[in-house]
Amino acid sequence: SQVVNAEFVKSSVRTVDCPTDGLPEFALVGRSNVGKSSLLNSIVRRKKLALTSKKPGKTQCINHFRINDKWYLVDLPGYGYASAPHESRLNWEEFTKDYFLKRETLVSVFLLIDASIPAKKIDLDYASWLGQNQIPMTIIFTKCDKRKKKKNGGRRPEENVETFQSLISEFFESTPPWIMTSSVTNMGRDEILLHMSQLRNY
Ligand code: GDP
Repeated sequence: SQVVNAEFVKSSVRTVDCPTDGLPEFALVGRSNVGKSSLLNSIVRRKKLALTSKKPGKTQCINHFRINDKWYLVDLPGYGYASAPHESRLNWEEFTKDYFLKRETLVSVFLLIDASIPAKKIDLDYASWLGQNQIPMTIIFTKCDKRKKKKNGGRRPEENVETFQSLISEFFESTPPWIMTSSVTNMGRDEILLHMSQLRNY
């Protein structure tokens, strides 16, 4: 389940513009600054790949990266910019919802949650929407290496992970699979690749 080959394929604005070769895909989504580009780079072990999707004009697109010529990693726009007026309101671009609901080759959404801070309402809203629409989901906790000092009100990543899971449990019949990761230590990288290969059945 290693990444031998990774290449940027295309940026699409609409679901109908996405690749049509039928290869299975996994979509990465999360609040801006959650560590999505870092994780993408850590998975493919290439610094430059995720830069493609950070180029101006590409951040609001569905970005497809083909892995080993067999499956896709899909980078979706980050949500919940701090400067947005209604940060906690679920306010996706319609095309993101359209993608989740219509993309038949989507095997699982990988929802990235920052484990170094307490859960944000917008993350709960996002998880709730995915649960209600029965979109297959895996939770990827990011920045699990990061520990704030207790005296500064910081909580351990493990505590934030536990709290998040209990908060979202009402949205799901069974707890979605979850993986703790760090792009600094590469914790969870192999687990993600193994999980993806199990979901693809090879
Ligand atoms: P994006 O906006 O979701 O693509 O987030 P980035 O990958 O650009 O990361 C946002 C910030 O978080 C950057 O300052 C990163 O260095 C930092 N960061 C990302 N991943 C990790 C991680 O696993 N551990 C720590 N400690 N910091 C991280």
